[in-house]
Amino acid sequence: MKSYNTDVAVIGAGAAGLSAALAASRQGAKVLLIERNEGSGGILNQCIHNGFGLHYFKTELTGPEYAFKLSQMIEEKSIEILTQRYLLDIDPQKKQIKVVSEKGIEFINTKSVVYTCGARERPFGSLLVPSSRACGVYTAGVAQRFINLENKMIGKSAIILGSGDIGLIMARRLTLEGVKVQAVIERMPYPGGLARNINQCLKDFDIPLYLSHTVTQVRGNARINEVVVCRVDEKYCAVPQTEKVFSVDTLILSVGLIPETSKLYGKVSLDPATKGIITDSNGQSSDPFIFAAGNCVIIYDLVDYVSAEGENAGRNAALYAAGKEQDEKIKIEKGNNIGIINPSFYVKNTGLDIYARVRKPLEKACFVVRDSEDVIFSVKNKNYVPSEMIHVKIDKEKLSRVKRLTVEVI
Ligand SMILES: Cc1cc2nc3c(=O)[nH]c(=O)nc-3n(C[C@H](O)[C@H](O)[C@H](O)COP(=O)(O)OP(=O)(O)OC[C@H]3O[C@@H](n4cnc5c(N)ncnc54)[C@H](O)[C@@H]3O)c2cc1C
Repeated sequence: MKSYNTDVAVIGAGAAGLSAALAASRQGAKVLLIERNEGSGGILNQCIHNGFGLHYFKTELTGPEYAFKLSQMIEEKSIEILTQRYLLDIDPQKKQIKVVSEKGIEFINTKSVVYTCGARERPFGSLLVPSSRACGVYTAGVAQRFINLENKMIGKSAIILGSGDIGLIMARRLTLEGVKVQAVIERMPYPGGLARNINQCLKDFDIPLYLSHTVTQVRGNARINEVVVCRVDEKYCAVPQTEKVFSVDTLILSVGLIPETSKLYGKVSLDPATKGIITDSNGQSSDPFIFAAGNCVIIYDLVDYVSAEGENAGRNAALYAAGKEQDEKIKIEKGNNIGIINPSFYVKNTGLDIYARVRKPLEKACFVVRDSEDVIFSVKNKNYVPSEMIHVKIDKEKLSRVKRLTVEVI
């Protein structure tokens, strides 16, 4: 049975993992990257559209270009990647990781772990839509993989459920490949994706967006041939007599990503609302041995944020491996109108990057960070929507005496 020894083991070689490995290596740590696929890059490899890297690389790239740049940096640093290795278990007591490959079980002895396993898509079964189980229903990521990586066409005429960025990007992609996208359906009264994607992916291609609507039935025998759509009320219940029947052979689901944390169940604290790993501002989880970053923590809209948080976790995992003591932590509370937030704890004597999403659209609102009743940071008079992640940086000088932090939009 083969075993390896390292200072920092990074699991998952997507944007978060590659960035974490680079940052840990810059601290002088020996780093081992573990990836289940044949190569690195994660989800970026199938995102062939542009719009990546404006902050991190200061230029607009496609997903594969972004992944290639990070992989080149990994190669320059001579960081070892063990590909086609699937994580089975992390044992914080033994400080050991168990992976499986075609060669069998392998063990990695490490002083710290950075967990960067990304996210998975919410499946059709979770929606409880009556259907005959006919084929022709795909999650957006699977459809994207078939078209962009495997050169396979998935249908001729489609409805897309969910107007998040992935659904919008797939509406454009399918149209460019000759599929007739009849509509994008969204149950919320506002779009789920970024405004730029509504314009560039739907309006530019005359694809209708039905807000406050949902799919209520999928019909067909071997292959689907009809999708029934209804208007919904404020409780998302279908409104009788508002049925529209679309004749399509394909239904694409873009109904949310769920952080991939299955290998950490019972080992670290997870956020009951987001299902992501709870981390502090150093990227450290509730088990000090395990750090985490990227979509397994919260679902980010920009890869640049994922890379920045990967670097943060990688750097701090290397410092922990070198024996750095932990500083005091302060809970960050979700205040008015905050739906999700990361990190959940502030580690004293550091700066703080806050990532948050509001629960509902708010106009001319004020983003506030309070220490008890004192406002220590604010951004005034801005419009906020749930689809756009709020990112703010607060200097450590402003945080030197904080005791209890609350973040809210009012
Ligand atoms: C369709 C789509 C469009 C997007 N468009 C944009 C855009 O225009 N601009 C932008 O900035 N961002 C965009 N994003 C967001 C951005 O690409 C992602 O947030 C980011 O790439 C996620 O990186 P990650 O490292 O967290 O996860 P991933 O890329 O998913 O990486 C996780 C890695 O972990 C590996 N892994 C998982 N489980 C295991 C295991 N048990 N053992 C070993 N390895 C494992 C996986 O194989 C994978 O390589 C888009 C995302 C999607 C899905």
